[in-house]
Amino acid sequence: MPVQMRGRCAGMLQRKNEIFLSESRNFHFAGSCELCAHHDPGRRACSFFWPDEAHRGERVLDPDQEEISFCKDFELN
Ligand code: SF4
Repeated sequence: MPVQMRGRCAGMLQRKNEIFLSESRNFHFAGSCELCAHHDPGRRACSFFWPDEAHRGERVLDPDQEEISFCKDFELN
């Protein structure tokens, strides 16, 4: 399901269930901004100026978050 953020399509949602989390660990899932080639570590933000709150690693690891939002512009760094 596309996610609308500030009027732009910014990502896709994935429910965080046990299967997904297990496979993420086993296959070393990488999808957060901090691992993306477009992440600007100096600004700790997206170099495209995308709103990146939903794609940061802390959200992926937060047990209170039931979904992960994947960014369509993610490129492995
Ligand atoms: S392109 Fe997407 S995944 Fe990469 S830093 Fe920007 S918001 Fe994050």
